Amino acid sequence: MISIYADNAATTALDETAIEMMKPYLQNIYGNASQAYSFSREPKKALKEARATIAECIGCSPDEIYFTSGGTESDNWAIKGSAFADIEKRATITSQIEHHAILNSCKAIERLGYPVAYLYPTADGTVLPEELEKIITDQTRLVSVMFANNEIGTTQPLSALAKVAHSHGALFHTDAVQAVGHIPINVYDLGVDMLSASAHKFNGPKGVGFLYIKNGTKIAPLINGGAQEAGIRAGTENVASIVGMAVALRENHEHIQENIAHKKTLENALLTGLTNFGVSYVLNGGNDKLPGLCSLSFKDKDGEAILHRMDLMGISISTGSACDSVNTEISHVLKAIRLDENLAKGTIRISLGKNNTLDDVDTIVQSLRKILSPI
Ligand code: PLP
Repeated sequence: MISIYADNAATTALDETAIEMMKPYLQNIYGNASQAYSFSREPKKALKEARATIAECIGCSPDEIYFTSGGTESDNWAIKGSAFADIEKRATITSQIEHHAILNSCKAIERLGYPVAYLYPTADGTVLPEELEKIITDQTRLVSVMFANNEIGTTQPLSALAKVAHSHGALFHTDAVQAVGHIPINVYDLGVDMLSASAHKFNGPKGVGFLYIKNGTKIAPLINGGAQEAGIRAGTENVASIVGMAVALRENHEHIQENIAHKKTLENALLTGLTNFGVSYVLNGGNDKLPGLCSLSFKDKDGEAILHRMDLMGISISTGSACDSVNTEISHVLKAIRLDENLAKGTIRISLGKNNTLDDVDTIVQSLRKILSPI
């Protein structure tokens, strides 16, 4: 059976160089990076280099990078750490279309009495700065809006949103889990105070990520314990994974424009192929979206059934969000963009990555044609 992986927004293949660079830290160089003896010198140096590499890729200083266990932890930390850092300003604003790592962190602080407001996006998934302007107050401590949506790919006007937040004395955080390593990012140009990332979305290992925290930002620790990560994120450092994350990010960063162009070519081939075969679809997410991430809605079809038929043909795709695959209801994102129910139910997500080929796309198109217009 053919095997095509087209769910790169869920996770990505581990970079070969990253695997090689991680190996010594899983085998011989196993010293605890926080110890004072010379056996810990190499892991310590590896952490320092990884921090510098990551900082360079997103345009910040190395001491503004804090290693975490992934996107979920980074998001939890940004929301809760910010809320708990200031007893005067207690309010948070986020959007309806955030990942559950943000939404459920917000629900958790709401249960503790911290007010949270949720911005509605436009029909293509954009969170408008003027909508933020309408509800932000001087009591707002944090605004958190994602960089790129994991279900429909929409990218947000972050600089404009951050400006509104700052003009009211609020901090701005972005969940950039789907964007880091895929679109060029400079945190200073964007004007964000915090940014979450996850290694496994950019060909790094699973279970590791980072939170960029701009120097001078007040944030309470989420994980209490030892003095690692400048004393605000405790836990013995996961050296091998951190090394793998930095190598994978550097690799993606060095080829970022080439990868974008490749994914755009694949996406065009997919959409043209479907059109040429007379398969009608709606592409969600508007014009400003992640290249290669295609949320396609087929009227009066069943997205879940399409996924399983594709799986039987050896092709891995997703319905709404991968992190949500047990939940077969219409996703919160498709509800928030007010997609008609007969389209929402027939929605699949094909996320093409740098390792996909035009042949893969051709097979995907042929398979969808068989499933959707079986004549
Ligand atoms: N934020 C977004 C936008 C995501 O897409 C994901 C994962 O799908 C996460 C956060 C969670 O990241 P992790 O899998 O590293 O916990």
